[in-house]
Parts: sequence; structure tokens; C-alpha cells
Amino acid sequence: MKRHRTKIVVVPLGEVDFFQLNKLAGNLSALFSLPSDILQGMKLPKEAYKLTTNQYFSTVILQKLELLKASQREVILGILEEDLYNAGDAYVIGDSDRLAKCAVVSYNRIRMEFYGLPEDDKQIFKRMLKESARHLGKVLGLRSCRNPRCVMYYSDTMYDIDQKSEKLCDICRRTYYKIR
Ligand SMILES: [Zn+2]
Repeated sequence: MKRHRTKIVVVPLGEVDFFQLNKLAGNLSALFSLPSDILQGMKLPKEAYKLTTNQYFSTVILQKLELLKASQREVILGILEEDLYNAGDAYVIGDSDRLAKCAVVSYNRIRMEFYGLPEDDKQIFKRMLKESARHLGKVLGLRSCRNPRCVMYYSDTMYDIDQKSEKLCDICRRTYYKIR
């Protein structure tokens, strides 16, 4: 069993609303029973930018985030407004690297305005929390869950994200406390 205390470190990439970020860090702390910190932030890495689609390559962002780690105990969560893609997908809402213990989540497609709908801060916050929790959960050793209500349920559509809760199901919670 690991005796050292893991810490969640939230990193804004580019312009990100600090109030929402603060709330996000607090909620993730409560969910995983871990302390959290917010770093001052980082510029969006130019080398991750793809001009033709106006997106950022998540793999490069995850590599950059890993460099910010002050110790092996930190798990990093990068948050950005811009759209993400990776080698396998034309777009992703979030991505993670389990070995590097880094995750990144984008607001872009979880915003209502992406679908031409009026903005709803509460809804956006919930979606961001759920997707951040799922990717952080993976970094912390959890796997995708089959329970559609569990926050670890694989969700890449707004419908699936909105249907699931912001909590770990009983099975995932037990697993989490066993592997921690
Ligand atoms: Zn679960």
C-alpha cells in the first residue's frame, strides 16, 4: 500500500475562468479525498497546435504537463478552452496518460454554445467535473465502469455525460480505496 499522499494539481492552459477552476479543484479533492492545488498556469504550447483544424494535440499537452510535476506524488490535470484531438480521434473532450499521471480536459465541446444553445454555467461545470473526474480516475488507477450512473462510465457524448452522476459507484469507490 502506498503511504505517501497523492496531490491533485490543476493547471489552467491559456485563458481559463479561475472561479470555475477553483470550484473544480475543490470538488475533485472531495471526490477523491486528496488535497489539491492550482498552479498559475501555462501558455498553450505552440507545438501542439494544428492550424488546419484549430485544435491542440493532447499527447503533446500531456507531455508538457508532465514537466510541471514537482514530485512523483502529484497528478496533473490541465484545463483549456480550446479543442483537443489525438492520434486516434478527430477530437477528444479529454485525454490522459496513466504512466505520466497527467490528464487534460477541454471546455470546447462541453459548452452549450458549441451546439448553438444558450450558455448554462451550472451545466458546463457539472460536465467539466465529470470528465475531469473520469480522466483523473484513470490516472489514479481506476478503469472505465459499466454503470452508466458512475462517473467512471465511458462517456464521449453529451447525453452520456449528462446522464451519469458526479460520483463513483460502490464498486469503483471500493476499488479506489483498495488501490490507493
Ligand atoms: Zn463505477
